[in-house]
Amino acid sequence: MTDFIQDITCDFVKELTPYESARRLFSGGRYWLNANESPFANDYSLDTSLLNRYPDCQPSELIGAYAGYANLEPSQVLASRGADEGIELLIRAFCNPGQDNIVICPPTYGMYAISGNTFNVAVNKVPLTSDFTLDIDTLTEIAHSEDLPKLLFLCSPNNPTGTLLPKAQVKQVLELFAGKTIVVMDEAYIEFSPRESWQTELQNFDNLVILRTLSKAFALAGIRCGFTLASEQIIKVLLKVIAPYPVSAPVAQIAQQALSPDGLNVMAEQVAYLSAEKQWLGEQLQARNYEIVGADGANFILFRAQQKDAVMQYLVDQGLLIRDQSKQVQLQNCLRVTVGDREQNQLFINLLDEYNNRNV
Ligand SMILES: *Cc1c(COP(=O)(O)O)cnc(C)c1O
Repeated sequence: MTDFIQDITCDFVKELTPYESARRLFSGGRYWLNANESPFANDYSLDTSLLNRYPDCQPSELIGAYAGYANLEPSQVLASRGADEGIELLIRAFCNPGQDNIVICPPTYGMYAISGNTFNVAVNKVPLTSDFTLDIDTLTEIAHSEDLPKLLFLCSPNNPTGTLLPKAQVKQVLELFAGKTIVVMDEAYIEFSPRESWQTELQNFDNLVILRTLSKAFALAGIRCGFTLASEQIIKVLLKVIAPYPVSAPVAQIAQQALSPDGLNVMAEQVAYLSAEKQWLGEQLQARNYEIVGADGANFILFRAQQKDAVMQYLVDQGLLIRDQSKQVQLQNCLRVTVGDREQNQLFINLLDEYNNRNV
């Protein structure tokens, strides 16, 4: 029985291991500062009168609401089951399995490589430089090579470094790959650095795609709702491979409320609160001589802890979860803490102090 299943499993799937999401790594804990979620749980209403019906593939009110928020045409917006599904759709629509490749720039978000692997698409790594900007020389070589990537994934503000890519560099890369490769700009954290968005450049670059999500600043990780912003032509290609009903009716209703004028006000207030908390948390870490790594463009702080395993274990034992990022290039001994509310942030600092006092 198991031999048979093993035999018929795709060769490349045999090699895969499930993604170690923050939630899979630690299911316990009481204080979650490990997945860049919002500490706020906002209220929504639900109309159940049409739950017996299939929803629209792309609910027009939802698409209209996001297009309004992003200042684009509805034809330039695709809604999906989180930004993660947007990553997957791009790979499925543009990469021939076993043949094409994508480029990623680590240290960065893990799902680009995971999605590439699960569709048997080669993942070519062009690491960020020591100041977490793009390695333009290597990207230039790739742009002039025979083996062009189909997709180049950039992330700004980057997870887990919180850094922003210099605009001149991104523009250079868009031009370098014009007519060749789609440049995917992951803006999952853009509400924490709103002036850095590339949304106004969609009209100038037909190889630019932007990924967005309601999981971070909008405090809706639980509903799984993300958006892909691109030319109408690209959106039409993605619609060929998307599931018939990717956005459930409750998700569409809640997302629309979050994107209403009231919802946007709440989001902006919560972002302002979290930005002030991020400042405080950074100062507390620095006052304790932790090295802050990267920048504060998102809703988390990356820092170096010499005894990172022991620190992590101490926090986990006390029920507070953060995320180990030390396996990524350039991030030796780095831990990432999501900015929570003051109570959570204070508890995190108190636990660090407790740990340090025990170990003097
Ligand atoms: C959290 C995150 C996502 C995933 O967003 P979902 O909409 O929850 O799938 C995408 N990109 C980056 C960089 C993220 O940190």
